[in-house]
Amino acid sequence: VHLKNIDLNELEKAINQFVIDRNWEQFHSIKNLSIALSVEASELLEIFQWMSEAESNHIKADEAKMIKVRAEVADVMIYLIRICSLLDLDLEKIVQDKMAHNSEKYPVSKVYGSSKKYNEY
Ligand SMILES: [Mg+2]
Repeated sequence: VHLKNIDLNELEKAINQFVIDRNWEQFHSIKNLSIALSVEASELLEIFQWMSEAESNHIKADEAKMIKVRAEVADVMIYLIRICSLLDLDLEKIVQDKMAHNSEKYPVSKVYGSSKKYNEY
């Protein structure tokens, strides 16, 4: 898909330089960055607020809304990368580790087609 050539190191460098150039490091505590990440995720959610399920499933046809979606997805990723940078987290590794954990937690044989939580089966 469109993520296949993502270069997280280049993104991290560009984001960190953007922050340094503006002397914004002083505001980037982990607490503040975590709040900012949540706010940006909520801004993504806000786009879908009051939409029907069907409307939300057809958002790709609405270019005005897609402009907002792109911007908020980017904001989420920017803060996520910034958090990883400050905490020395290897984003690729921790996602792979979590997916391995999720695969054990949600075995296909038990959860196929089911939305039950892990403690409900
Ligand atoms: Mg935003």
